[in-house]
Amino acid sequence: MVPVYREGQGLLQNVRRLTAVLDRHKANFRYEVVLVNDGSPDDSLQCIEKLQRDRPEVIGVVSFVRNFGQIPAILAGMARAKGDCIVVISADLQDPPEMIPLMFDKWCAGNRTVLAVREGRKDKWTARVASRVFYSAMQRYALSSLPRGGFDFFLIDRTVADRVLANVEPNCFLQGQILYASGPVVQIPYTRQDRSSGAPGWTLDRRVKYFIDGFVGHTFAPIRMMSMIGILSLGAGIVLAGGLVAQGIFLGTRVAGWMSILIAVLILQGVQMVMIGVLGEYVWRALDQARNRVPYIVDYEALANGAKAGGAFEYAREPRVVEMAAPLNGQASGLKRASAPNTTPAAFAG
Ligand code: UDP
Ligand code: MG
Repeated sequence: MVPVYREGQGLLQNVRRLTAVLDRHKANFRYEVVLVNDGSPDDSLQCIEKLQRDRPEVIGVVSFVRNFGQIPAILAGMARAKGDCIVVISADLQDPPEMIPLMFDKWCAGNRTVLAVREGRKDKWTARVASRVFYSAMQRYALSSLPRGGFDFFLIDRTVADRVLANVEPNCFLQGQILYASGPVVQIPYTRQDRSSGAPGWTLDRRVKYFIDGFVGHTFAPIRMMSMIGILSLGAGIVLAGGLVAQGIFLGTRVAGWMSILIAVLILQGVQMVMIGVLGEYVWRALDQARNRVPYIVDYEALANGAKAGGAFEYAREPRVVEMAAPLNGQASGLKRASAPNTTPAAFAG
């Protein structure tokens, strides 16, 4: 499945490259490509429709009423893909589609989740630094199983997709949800290429939000840190106050200086505001979850092979398999496969 936002004409060439790679492996698997148009303001939808007219047997279209973001687009694609396993790949092909057959082989060998992990990336240095800081903080404080460079390009078994879909959270950190539902994963290193055309759709504020989603979704460390800072500053205040009283009693000194008081007030006030902000990040997400809004609204869809067309409002699909992973410790999940992939003669990789 491919999320598409503002990819323009470059999309035609990229999807053709993707299908050409998959066609070369016709003997091994059948596939469909689900293209989810995430409310692109440009001609992406026209390009998707053209691709579908050319090859209706393999290209499926889902189009949102507006832009909901890459993660809702991926969730919509996962819900509609019919295959026994699903590959998620970016429309700009910064991740090489030539790796898909290798990922498929790993799946055939019995691995439920195969991650392509970035060894290096040919992005701008700012993107590289931001990604390094983000993923190391996530790995250290929130999800220790998250690969160092994160992952955007992956293959998951149908059962993993269904587990993720069974528990769709608003503002979810998708990589975390996938690791949470997967148990052991296989990693294949690769080098990420530069964008072939167009501009990235992920703006800085979206990245910052996604970073906070990851933290809030997978750790309480920030709240714990707030309590620690509170305890430390309270302790410091008590010690200083004791010192002043002792000075007054034994030495008779009077401490003057409103400046020092002002500094203390400003610093403590600042720390408190930051802490309220951190709490707020948790609280608004809880509210968003309580509202139970749908993660996306589909305007129109036409899946490959004419499986389904039309339908104005479509919400996240009912899960097919509700077989949850063991909480927290995915390693000891004791999950069983719904179907052994290596016994499936013809599988989809969508
Ligand atoms: N994308 C999307 N909705 C958005 C932003 C991006 O569906 O609001 C898609 C985009 O078309 C691409 C993928 O998500 O297929 C990754 O986006 P991008 O290339 O902008 O991100 P980056 O390469 O910087 O991770
Ligand atoms: Mg990209």
